[in-house]
Amino acid sequence: MALQYKTLPVTAFQQNCSVVWCDETLDAAVIDPGGELPKLLDFVARQGLTLKAIWLTHAHIDHAGGTGELARTKGLPIIGPHPGDQFWIDGLAQQSAMFGFPAVEPFKPTQWLADGDQVQIGQQTLNVRHCPGHTPGHVVFHSESAGRAFVGDVLFAGGVGRSDFPGGDHATLIRSITERLWPMGDATVFIPGHGPESSFGTERRTNPYVRGT
Ligand SMILES: [Zn+2]
Ligand SMILES: [Zn+2]
Repeated sequence: MALQYKTLPVTAFQQNCSVVWCDETLDAAVIDPGGELPKLLDFVARQGLTLKAIWLTHAHIDHAGGTGELARTKGLPIIGPHPGDQFWIDGLAQQSAMFGFPAVEPFKPTQWLADGDQVQIGQQTLNVRHCPGHTPGHVVFHSESAGRAFVGDVLFAGGVGRSDFPGGDHATLIRSITERLWPMGDATVFIPGHGPESSFGTERRTNPYVRGT
């Protein structure tokens, strides 16, 4: 048995929403449903999966915009992010107006996450690490058995997350990467919030923002 996933870019920002599932039970979670819910639900239906939860890395509109509607229509719990992102959740309506997104339904997380928590889908367990710096309440989801980490906007192939938003801090972001992502191991493949996958080892060698750390 294993963790499976499919990454589906959504919204004008091509945000990497990932559907993750346990191949034994076919229970699935959606990480960062920023929008384009019909596309996500169509994939879930075609794979014969049962949606059980929404997991959020952080509350920027392109990651969280579809959360309220998806939770309401499918009766799903909203797990995450860390409470540091409450002000971003409160500001979702302004974010959608600013970026020309469709109106968003407000939501309240069913369960906040903290560093060291675990989330479960079917027989699969993922570890939660709190990685502030891009937003104060950003978390990442790590599957040790699959060697995969879903890192949102903390780290990209060849880049790192922006830290010029309210509550952002570049030094904090770099510390999150070096102290909380690197210990997952160089071989770990990460799924960033935008753009292609890479491995932590590759970024440690070649990413100008974190090379040699
Ligand atoms: Zn973001
Ligand atoms: Zn993003």
